[in-house]
Amino acid sequence: MKYLDEYRDPKTAQLLLDEIRRITTRHWTLMEVCGGQTHSLLRHGIAVELEGTVELIHGPGCPVCVTDQAAIDFACQLAQREEIVLASFGDMLRVPGSHGSLLDAQATGAHIQIVYSPSDAVELARKQPETQFVFFAVGFETTAPATALAIKQAARYRLENFSMIVSHVRVQPAMESLVQAPENRVQAFLAAGHVCTVMGYESYESFVNRYQLPVVVTGFEPLDLLDGILACVKQLEANEAMLENRYARTVQAAGNRSAQDLVQEIYQVCDRAWRGFGTIPKGGLELRPEWQQFDALLRFNKPAIPVFKRDECQSFEVMTGQIKPPECPHFGTRCTPESPLGAPMVSSEGACAAYYRYGVTTTP
Ligand code: SF4
Repeated sequence: MKYLDEYRDPKTAQLLLDEIRRITTRHWTLMEVCGGQTHSLLRHGIAVELEGTVELIHGPGCPVCVTDQAAIDFACQLAQREEIVLASFGDMLRVPGSHGSLLDAQATGAHIQIVYSPSDAVELARKQPETQFVFFAVGFETTAPATALAIKQAARYRLENFSMIVSHVRVQPAMESLVQAPENRVQAFLAAGHVCTVMGYESYESFVNRYQLPVVVTGFEPLDLLDGILACVKQLEANEAMLENRYARTVQAAGNRSAQDLVQEIYQVCDRAWRGFGTIPKGGLELRPEWQQFDALLRFNKPAIPVFKRDECQSFEVMTGQIKPPECPHFGTRCTPESPLGAPMVSSEGACAAYYRYGVTTTP
């Protein structure tokens, strides 16, 4: 198949759905680990179609949703300083921190500029040398190469007015944390196609062997998703646990080596606090010592921020598959995209936003 429409063909989708139903002998619980896949599953009605056959639960696959509140608080504080402009992707602006969002901060005079790429932030810094630009670097392994490139650009221009709040997170340690939790319900994973495009999927081999759970690399279109679900169910029904790549048109076993080399050059693995999860060992990336002149944490001495525990949002329960968004008592009432209580309702990849947008108010 060459064109996108072919991956949305309703007749083939129906055949795949029929096949999943035909071979399923018991209730299986699968988790997709990518917010883009969550939205596609809801948008195309796949989660609802499989109700009673295969339960799809939604993992921590939205980088905006898992960005630690302390990082947002730090970004808000920096943006309020006279000499600093905080550059961020638009998605981050409405995510609540402990004391409000970046948008709230902007309303009280903070300097915040939306950018569409890390290089845009570097360019701003290059053109306005009298102003400090701080880029809020969030995202999984998919966005880390672009922020690594921005650091190299800033170094090439010898910019002394560019730095980053590095909040990159790594997917596989979060999957490990999920399956080790006593409340784990995941029986197989649909691995995130975009992350595997960069990182490859060889590293999942030991994960599959260790936890004896099927992992199937899966794309984003309806037929990709149904194919990935079918592959998982086939394995589960056969009592097998294997690694499969069902997104071969995009993903290679080794991934994109040059992107990995770039990330390796600029970043090192670190423990990282995930919103709602706490600290996940090896769950993030931080700048290597030789690039730390671009670390906003070091340049601007992160201030002590009193922690306010927000307990209204059940995003942790949503992102670990313990509940579906409509089971949150605030879903669609106190929490809507216009007035969000938590990040999963704000972000374009958030699970709560997906259920709200596609009008799924029950729990498939
Ligand atoms: S509906 Fe709102 S409050 Fe409930 S989990 Fe989702 S984002 Fe949080």
